[in-house]
Amino acid sequence: MAEKTLNVFEIVQQQIKDACDALGETQEVYDILKQPKSCLEVAVPVKMDNGETKVFQAYRSLHNDAVGPGKGGLRFHQNVSMDEVKALSAWMTFKCGVAGIPYGGGKGGVIVDPTTMSQGEIERLARGVITALAPVIGDMKDIPAPDVNTNPQIMAWMVDEYSKLQGQNTLGIITGKPLELGGSLGRFEATGYGVALMTREAFKAKKMDIKGSKISIQGFGNVGRYAAKYLQDMGAKIVAASDVSCCLYDEKGLDIDKLFDYVKEPENKNMIKGFPGAEEMGRDDIFNIEVDALAPCALENAITSENVDNIKAKMVVEGANGPTTPEADKVLNEKGILVVPDILANGGGVMVSYFEWVQNLQNYYWTFEEVQEKQEIKMVKAFNDIFVIMEEYNVSMRVAAFMMSIKRVADAMRARGWVK
Ligand code: GLU
Repeated sequence: MAEKTLNVFEIVQQQIKDACDALGETQEVYDILKQPKSCLEVAVPVKMDNGETKVFQAYRSLHNDAVGPGKGGLRFHQNVSMDEVKALSAWMTFKCGVAGIPYGGGKGGVIVDPTTMSQGEIERLARGVITALAPVIGDMKDIPAPDVNTNPQIMAWMVDEYSKLQGQNTLGIITGKPLELGGSLGRFEATGYGVALMTREAFKAKKMDIKGSKISIQGFGNVGRYAAKYLQDMGAKIVAASDVSCCLYDEKGLDIDKLFDYVKEPENKNMIKGFPGAEEMGRDDIFNIEVDALAPCALENAITSENVDNIKAKMVVEGANGPTTPEADKVLNEKGILVVPDILANGGGVMVSYFEWVQNLQNYYWTFEEVQEKQEIKMVKAFNDIFVIMEEYNVSMRVAAFMMSIKRVADAMRARGWVK
C-alpha cells in the first residue's frame, strides 16, 4: 500500500517528536524545534539569454540558531518547495549538533531546473538570489553552501555578489568555495569521504570486514562519487552505481576511477550510462541488488514502502538527506538492517564547511591531510557516541542521533533562557 504522505516537513517533525519523547524533553522544546525560526520567500527576476526576464521563486529557512549561526546548503532543483526547505533546514540543525560544530540549521532552495540554462543565466540567477537573500544571511547569521545542483563556481559568484553589496571581501559568508577564493582543501570530497568513513565504522560495529565487501551506491553526483571512490580505496567492491540515466552492475566491482573519468567526458553529460564493461539495468534496480551495504546518495524519499522489501543489504548508509521514508525505516529496523542516519552519515560536508569558515575567519589555511584527519576524528567520535546512546536506550541509530543532537540544542536554548 502506498504511504499516506511523503511530506518531508511532516517526516522531520515526527523524527523530532520521537527523539524528544525518548529523551523526556519538555513540550516547549518540541514547540520551538518543530518549525523553523524564520523562512523567507523571494521572487528573483533574471534576464535570460533571449532578452526576456524570468522570475524564480527562492527560499531560505533558518531553523534554529541557539548554538550558533544557521548553516546549510542552497539547492537549485525543479522540485524545491517551502516545506522541503523547512525540513532540510531542521535536518541541518541536528546534523550540526551530531557533528558537534557550533552552528544552527539553515537551508535554501530555488525552484529551477539548471540543466535547461546557460552558464550566464545560472550566474545571473546566483547573483540575484544572493541580493534577494542578503538581509537574512551573514557570516555570523546564516551561511549557505553547495547542495543539489550547486557547486563551487556558483558559490564563487555568490560570495562575489555579497562582497560587492558589503563593499568588502566577506569570504566567510559562504562555504564550498573554490580553493582560489578561500575554499578549503578536502571540502569537495568531504561529504562522500564522510559517507565512506561512516560505512567503515558500521562494518566494524557489525564485525564485518569491509575488504572485499559488496556495496551499491544510488546517485553518482558529488556525494555518491566520492563515497564510491573512498570505499573502493578501503578495499570494498562497488558492485552497482546508479544515477537518473541507469544502474550499472559489475559483480567484480566497477572501476570507480575510470567511471569518474567517463562521466567527465563532455559527450556523457555527467551521466554513467554507456560505461563500457558493466551490465546496464533500469535505475531503480539499484535497490534490488544483493550487497553488504547500500548507500542512497541522491534525493529524499528514495527508499519507500514500495521498494523497501526488495532491499537485500545488511546496512543502509544515508548519503542523501532524508532518503528513507518513516514506513520504510520501520521495515528496515524490524529486519535488523542497520540504518546509519543522514544527519550522521552525510555530516562530513558541513563539518568541512565549518573548517573552511574557521580558516576564512583566521585567514590561515590547512593542508588536505589536516582537514581529512580532523574530519575523521570528529566523525568517528560522533558515530561511537551515538552507538552508546543507541545501546543504552535500545533505540534505532536515527533516534539516537536525534537524541544526542536535540540535547545539545535544548541545552543551548536553556542557557539562553529560551526554555526552562
Ligand atoms: N548541503 C550540504 C548538506 O546538506 C552541506 C551544507 C554545508 O556545507 O553547509 O549537509
